[in-house]
Amino acid sequence: MEKDKYTYKVVIVGGGPAGIATAITLLSKGIDCCVVEAHKTPIRKSGEAIPPNAKPLLKQLGILSLVENEKHKVYYGNKSCWGSDILEQKEFIADKFGHGFLLDRLYFETQLQDLYKNTNASFYSGYKLKKVVSNEKEVSTTIENDSETIKLKSNFIVDATGRKASVCRHLGVQKETLDSQFAITFNVKISNNIPNEISVEATKNGWWYVAPFTENEITMMFFTLKEIIPDKENIEIFLQKELQTTIHLSKIIKNIKIETIKIMPAGTSCLQIPYGKNWLAVGDAAYSFDPISSYGITSALASGFYGGHAVADYLNGKEEALEVYRYVMENAFQAYLHKLIAHYEVEKRWKQSYFWMNRLEMLKTKC
Ligand SMILES: Cc1cc2nc3c(=O)[nH]c(=O)nc-3n(C[C@H](O)[C@H](O)[C@H](O)COP(=O)(O)OP(=O)(O)OC[C@H]3O[C@@H](n4cnc5c(N)ncnc54)[C@H](O)[C@@H]3O)c2cc1C
Repeated sequence: MEKDKYTYKVVIVGGGPAGIATAITLLSKGIDCCVVEAHKTPIRKSGEAIPPNAKPLLKQLGILSLVENEKHKVYYGNKSCWGSDILEQKEFIADKFGHGFLLDRLYFETQLQDLYKNTNASFYSGYKLKKVVSNEKEVSTTIENDSETIKLKSNFIVDATGRKASVCRHLGVQKETLDSQFAITFNVKISNNIPNEISVEATKNGWWYVAPFTENEITMMFFTLKEIIPDKENIEIFLQKELQTTIHLSKIIKNIKIETIKIMPAGTSCLQIPYGKNWLAVGDAAYSFDPISSYGITSALASGFYGGHAVADYLNGKEEALEVYRYVMENAFQAYLHKLIAHYEVEKRWKQSYFWMNRLEMLKTKC
């Protein structure tokens, strides 16, 4: 392939945790790559909890010090009302890895992108993917921003675009959606003291997730099925009613004003095969997880790490490397599905409710 300033061994589309982990892994293996990211500057995304057992991976990726920054909080446990009316406390004190992290997600995304930018490798921020054409010899990727269109040439492309798996869609590869769970997320200010822990509480129509955001602000998420979510104008009343049905959260979170809400898919989805000729998918683009697992960010970083190694080996002539990546990722995904189903099956209080009756149907067909 003829080398010009827009030619790379690997083009990575998506500058989130999976894309940056892939890029720093490839660069550490001496593989020239670039990252294309749709947003000019990092945006705040949903998801902030990193469990204690993610620490060895963070260390191996060389980013443990990033999450130890004072902008992020440590957290020592979860409170969970799930399967019975009792609020159970799970302390990490007994965990061999100690505490987990509650990320300032915007700051974390900035830290990751800064880490990559410091390598001086190319970073096309503010550019969206327009077209991907892959043939035997090379991949041609067209990206654009408001003022220009650029054609990148590479031997390989990595899809790190998150749940939408945009590169795969351009290549005609569809992701399989295993359930229609959605999240309704919002932040609220509260006056009482906020402990550094996550609270989860199941209700008839779904489940709540509450995490501290700042000194006097919390992030709240209600997870339910798409079919249960009312029209926009009725959402606030719906959420207030849902909060009233909680046994524990309603005692500490009272008279809240719900302002800006976001609604987004938050179920499980996957690619049948996370790679093809000249391409590989990492992070949510390959496998998206139910946030009850707190697995998304760690898995995105892990798949970037293992995916980066697989791509480097493949480009160095090890044909089997991509299939090995698939084997590892698929087995991890199967283990996740089994744990997820077991977790939802614990909740038997609302056997006739639409949410709990329909929660696991599609997931079970994949195990
Ligand atoms: C409601 C909710 C709560 C969650 N809570 C948690 C949690 O507590 N803990 C946890 O570990 N995980 C959680 N997650 C999941 C976690 O946020 C994701 O798994 C994680 O962000 C995946 O990282 P990624 O790099 O694969 O994708 P993303 O973080 O989505 O990054 C993809 C990047 O690609 C860019 N991009 C997309 N399309 C294009 C395009 N066409 N051209 C160029 N760039 C593009 C995007 O701008 C984005 O920056 C939660 C998810 C949701 C929805």
